[in-house]
Amino acid sequence: METRLNNYRNAASVHKNIRLLLKDYIKPGIKLIDICEFIENNIRNSLSNEVNNGIAFPVGVSLNNIAAHWTPQKNDTTVLTENDVLKVDFGTHIDGNIIDSAFTYAYDDKFNPLKEASKEAVYNVIKNIGVGSRISELGGIASEIVNSYEIELENKLIPLKPINNIYGHSIEQWKIHGNKYIYPLKTNNTGVIEENDVLAIEIYVSTGCGTTIMDSNSNHFMLKEKYNSSNLKLKKSRELLNYIKSNFKTLAFTQRYFNDIKSVDIGLKELFNNQIINSYPPLVEPLDNSYISQFEHTIHVSEKNTENFSLGEDY
Ligand code: MN
Ligand code: MN
Repeated sequence: METRLNNYRNAASVHKNIRLLLKDYIKPGIKLIDICEFIENNIRNSLSNEVNNGIAFPVGVSLNNIAAHWTPQKNDTTVLTENDVLKVDFGTHIDGNIIDSAFTYAYDDKFNPLKEASKEAVYNVIKNIGVGSRISELGGIASEIVNSYEIELENKLIPLKPINNIYGHSIEQWKIHGNKYIYPLKTNNTGVIEENDVLAIEIYVSTGCGTTIMDSNSNHFMLKEKYNSSNLKLKKSRELLNYIKSNFKTLAFTQRYFNDIKSVDIGLKELFNNQIINSYPPLVEPLDNSYISQFEHTIHVSEKNTENFSLGEDY
């Protein structure tokens, strides 16, 4: 475990260094694709010996009512504006030990309560976590904090809600989503936190209804642990599968990571239809004009202490 802990620490220091650069880089007028490439190129420069150059998953730049899992393709022209709430969620890894951490950027200070509610909920869950903590109680702590917040937008007071269908999660080597989930609300989940759990603690806060739905077009994919490729008909799909196995293993990837987009889409479709890859479409608040914030840290829990790998000067 000690080697793995050091891998987490080193992956986290790359994450934190990039965040310091982002402070001056992200501002209204910038293209979202440029933010993604800036982050991914910086990871590549630091972790070039790792699988996919240390990029644990595609950089998420989800705007406003999009909660998670949105990343642009190369030709995307979306520009950040002064009225936007942007979640920047990116991951670094060393030997499959993944740091998953996110923050919310908004130019306009009126969104501060939205950001604070998520941040405070995440920090209080981390403060209260330890070996033996009940997952349902951690969820209770998160929802109580978020529900105590409100925000004034267009002369209206809006109570804030935690999003109830996106969860924090355990992280295993080469596997971003382990089998433990931390909900932002009190549930009848009987799970507890155990020695050596590595967990991504993330709370999404919304001005809308608090339940997201899946968008149609997916730009996040991941190879399944077990699959049967014997029914693949297209040569292109078999080539694509080999490429994915050697370049990403079981880490998440996006169409942007391939050059020949057109036939990649056909190959991905066949791999998906044969249950060889999973797809993770963007998760969206159905209420128009709603805003979502997110903070996320990756931590390690042991009897001795809780270590917040991704804690930095910024958050
Ligand atoms: Mn994340
Ligand atoms: Mn996560």
